[in-house]
Amino acid sequence: MSLSDLLVLGQGKDLASERGVSCSGELPAASDPTLVERAIAARATLGDRALILGHHYQRDEVIRFADITGDSFKLAQAAADQSSAEFIFFCGVHFMAESADILTSATQKVILPDLAAGCSMADMATANQVDQCWKDLEKLGVASRTTPVTYMNSSAAIKSFTGEHGGTICTSSNAQKSLEWAFAKSEKVLFMPDQHLGRNTAVLSLGLSLEDCVLWNPWKPMGGLTEDEIRRAKMILWRGHCSVHGRFSIESIHEVRARIPGVQVIVHPECQYEVVSAADVVGSTERIIQIVSQSAPGSKWAVGTELNLVSRLAANNPDKEVVFLDKTVCYCSTMNRIDLPHLVWSMESIIAGHIVNEIKVDPRVAKYAKLALEQMLAL
Ligand code: SF4
Repeated sequence: MSLSDLLVLGQGKDLASERGVSCSGELPAASDPTLVERAIAARATLGDRALILGHHYQRDEVIRFADITGDSFKLAQAAADQSSAEFIFFCGVHFMAESADILTSATQKVILPDLAAGCSMADMATANQVDQCWKDLEKLGVASRTTPVTYMNSSAAIKSFTGEHGGTICTSSNAQKSLEWAFAKSEKVLFMPDQHLGRNTAVLSLGLSLEDCVLWNPWKPMGGLTEDEIRRAKMILWRGHCSVHGRFSIESIHEVRARIPGVQVIVHPECQYEVVSAADVVGSTERIIQIVSQSAPGSKWAVGTELNLVSRLAANNPDKEVVFLDKTVCYCSTMNRIDLPHLVWSMESIIAGHIVNEIKVDPRVAKYAKLALEQMLAL
């Protein structure tokens, strides 16, 4: 293969190469000049039968068609409050669409425009690994004194485990409340799957010490911990992380402070403990948007979260200086799987009577997962 064979996506030189591999039927090419018109027409045809939910990390081309935008907490609430739309197009990742399916009625259908839109963090905790961990805690006699608190970014199976064992789901917006609730009813918390959100919230918001936290490695017997370490721990943190937020470093903070005098650093709590500790402000995506948008004209912000969100924040706040915290580009690759061709393809397929990419959670799993999600919404 010569270099000239490597065609650039969206350049219209080889339309066949732009078609997806996982979609049945005709996925429009990204360079199709009628794509926006097709999206507008399909959306109008679906009317009230459809609701499009768009996560803040989605591409601009998708967000412009979203009826509601938000972080995973706001979108879960929107799905739970939505009883009329027949089709919910979830422009986000797989675990969010699962939660929407659990929280909506049996007649509503949740569609994920590209099934390859997963989440590497959610994949870091499998149902078998979590079952094994709980068995180990039972063997040690500490399971009965432990409450599972599971981040939204997890599979429906892990949420189900959480509901079955009296725990709650949390998001970055309500992690502190969730931990306070859990510690009011038990001595220990098993926090899955994001170690950073768990550690940052426990230490920086609840005042626990780093020594109160241990890291459970699901690939090692007994999590790689001694019996004594487990018995003494208050927070048992699952060894998972976000590949996007995990990239931000102390060096990027030093670099941006040297480059932009007076800049304030605001980061997401999925960032590493050292980064969150060194930042000026920490907050969920909703909170980051709120704080930056409400700040005084002329304010300078370096933002440590996903790049689609930061680019829109900069564009929507022209009276402020808003920059990305890292020097290198840092999109969430799975969030970016949802593009306009997939949205158009899924809407047009449904209009043609073919239900595609429906996300359906097994009712046995959904039963307890719903308990854990409802517990979160009730906090
Ligand atoms: S940003 Fe991180 S946690 Fe969110 S979907 Fe992407 S990989 Fe998962």
